Amino acid sequence: MTLRHTAPFHAHIVTLFPEMFPGFLGQSLSGKALERGIWSFDTVNPRAYATDLHKTVDDAPFGGGAGMVMKPDVLSKTLEAHKPLGRFIYMSPRGKPLTQALVQELTQAPRLTILCGRYEGVDQRLLDAYGAEEISLGDYVLSGGEQAAMILLDAVIRLLPDVVGNMETHSEESFTRHLLEYPHYTRPAEWQDAEGVIRKVPEVLTSGHHAKVEAWRRAESERLTAERRPDLFAKYLEISKKSE
Ligand code: SAH
Repeated sequence: MTLRHTAPFHAHIVTLFPEMFPGFLGQSLSGKALERGIWSFDTVNPRAYATDLHKTVDDAPFGGGAGMVMKPDVLSKTLEAHKPLGRFIYMSPRGKPLTQALVQELTQAPRLTILCGRYEGVDQRLLDAYGAEEISLGDYVLSGGEQAAMILLDAVIRLLPDVVGNMETHSEESFTRHLLEYPHYTRPAEWQDAEGVIRKVPEVLTSGHHAKVEAWRRAESERLTAERRPDLFAKYLEISKKSE
């Protein structure tokens, strides 16, 4: 296993299930970027740093209760053997929400270390000792941090230079300007759905009138955001007011 910084962006993943990686990150855009050396990763299994005969990595919680907790001593040995850690992230439902702004920020870190929790999670002292940055995917509970780490990495990798051909794609995308994206249409311009209804593409899109297309897209973005995400829309209005 190489710990050298092999690509402009490197993910060092601490996981009890290293065989899960790269998983879907090995396919499509992120897979091609991995082959092209735009990003790289390595995994380390804390089990390799367990000292007892049974290679124990977890134990029952002090104070009682269900489930098991990942041991601080074993995790610390794992982390110490793999420094520098770079930005140290623990995937956790208690973390700050993963947003596009945070994703964008993470693209600037040349190296991330991501700790994937399992069972009930990780001993708090380990998180305190290493100043872990806790990041959550949302208000629901997954069975492990690996899935969450892969989603975080997917979002970061697609923003790295040269992964997506046309960088303009990103500036238009949902959340970039506190707006959801406008609807997309492609050929055929007239499509008959399964019920026999003829569905046409909004006329403005086939008009070839660039400014009108822009205005329509902006209006659709605003309408959808106001309808679906009043929280985002309020932020958008605030920022638009400031930049006036
Ligand atoms: N007992 C914990 C949940 C443990 S789930 C609680 O109630 O908060 C096991 C692991 O899955 C966690 O340690 C974390 O690494 C990961 N995980 C679960 N849900 C997640 C989420 N919404 N975002 C990020 N990671 C999550």
